[in-house]
Amino acid sequence: MHEEILSGIALTDLRSEHRGPVLVLGDPGYDEARRVWNGMHDRRPALIARCLTASDVSAVLRHAVAADVPVTVRGGGHNVAGTAVSDDSVMIDLSLMRAVTVDPAAEQAEAEGGCLLGEVDAATAPHGLACPAGVVSHTGLGGLALGGGYGWLARKWGLTCDHILAAEVVLPDGSVVEVSESQHPELLWALRGGGGNFGIVTRFTLRLRPVGPVYHHAAVFGPDEAPAALEEYRRFAAGQSSDMHAVGAFKVAGQQEWIPERLRGEPALFLTAVWLGDPADGPAAVAPLFGTVEPAGSVARVMPYLELQGLGDHGEPHGNRYFTKSCYLSDLASDPVAELVEAARDIRSPLSSIDFEFLCGAISGPANEESAFPRREAPYICTASAQWIDPQHDAENIAWTRNTVARLAAWTYGGAYVNYLQDEPADRVVEVYGDARYRRLAAVKNSYDPRNVLRSNQNIRPTSGTAHLPSER
Ligand SMILES: Cc1cc2nc3c(=O)[nH]c(=O)nc-3n(C[C@H](O)[C@H](O)[C@H](O)COP(=O)(O)OP(=O)(O)OC[C@H]3O[C@@H](n4cnc5c(N)ncnc54)[C@H](O)[C@@H]3O)c2cc1C
Repeated sequence: MHEEILSGIALTDLRSEHRGPVLVLGDPGYDEARRVWNGMHDRRPALIARCLTASDVSAVLRHAVAADVPVTVRGGGHNVAGTAVSDDSVMIDLSLMRAVTVDPAAEQAEAEGGCLLGEVDAATAPHGLACPAGVVSHTGLGGLALGGGYGWLARKWGLTCDHILAAEVVLPDGSVVEVSESQHPELLWALRGGGGNFGIVTRFTLRLRPVGPVYHHAAVFGPDEAPAALEEYRRFAAGQSSDMHAVGAFKVAGQQEWIPERLRGEPALFLTAVWLGDPADGPAAVAPLFGTVEPAGSVARVMPYLELQGLGDHGEPHGNRYFTKSCYLSDLASDPVAELVEAARDIRSPLSSIDFEFLCGAISGPANEESAFPRREAPYICTASAQWIDPQHDAENIAWTRNTVARLAAWTYGGAYVNYLQDEPADRVVEVYGDARYRRLAAVKNSYDPRNVLRSNQNIRPTSGTAHLPSER
């Protein structure tokens, strides 16, 4: 089967042009390279090109396009929908392209397209700098930055995509271009939130921000205390400076010493506040969050920024099975909270969680013209993430995830975060961006990828393929 698919690709020519390994089924390393984070996606590409340079990316892309074989692009392999890998396709694997260089004076970093977040943080932190990014260090920079990038620094400095100053991009025709405010500005706009639709980013130039130690305070509440604790969270979060980022999660409590025995193994509410201002001011800044409803247990301390960025690493390991649904919420009033508590009581796996956070701050800052990222004013994001191990439990976990988000339908803000989409109809992408922004993205797609070569993603279709384009209004 794969031989037939690859019959149009001159493998010997590709291998001589391509510096990195080119793997087919049966080659050593093939099985490891095709694996992605979500164990639900057990797919076998016809060919995996492990690229080392932009010219490797260009070579494999040109060969695949000429032979009319579909391509996928792998950054960190973390997309929950598994868009990095597909059966019978050519996987353009960037995971060997992970160099980072930092210019501390300019407060900028150059990061290759296959970097993981932890590698960018590890390079920038010694200079007291960071690029705002996600909360799990083994997530890929490529997919996260191109789709948006929420994280601990987002309320203070904005999303990861807001920090893309420039990029080296391999276009679907194989040409390599430098993208910046002065070269291909419309493409730069689209790269800031429009996903991997327009080209393959082999190098990002990122703006960095100053970071130091942070004050971190986590607390746990039983389900009966959750409604009152969340009412306090709602009041607290909305009144804070952007130095404060407070998030919450319903999940099954673990065995940590600070969690009282009566809650261990039970669904519980966790609230976590991170204070980015002077750490000495942290306890006083966080105190009002826990002023009315006393937590059943809590733990607080000052920690280096790098440690904060690694706190989420063990909770979402590679290879487990995951299913995610997410929505923005207009408010976290008592009715949606009651639904969240019920959904938490119904949780099917001790590894699953319902996460939510108050957004705003610098996230809602940039004007539409600066980036493609939509729904910046959304007050809350809420994500049901089912995680389990045994495939026999797929159906119940998927159903729990769907039901959890369906319970919140009456309070949604509209749209969704593109990087959390899984198993959605194609039209959902139009809803995510909204009509006007989608049309602008489709026009960029038309200029740079009119044949929709890059379509294994949350796809923006070129305007020539008008099947699901919103009508002019
Ligand atoms: C454990 C975990 C934690 C997460 N935490 C956060 C978080 O805190 N904040 C947040 O905002 N999101 C978070 N996410 C979601 C994350 O943003 C997406 O899963 C994102 O797609 C991951 O990027 P990746 O490169 O690892 O993915 P991949 O699966 O490798 O790629 C996904 C898609 O991105 C595109 N792509 C990737 N790299 C490139 C590139 N260099 N050039 C062009 N296209 C590219 C391709 O279209 C590809 O199909 C998290 C995900 C996981 C699994």
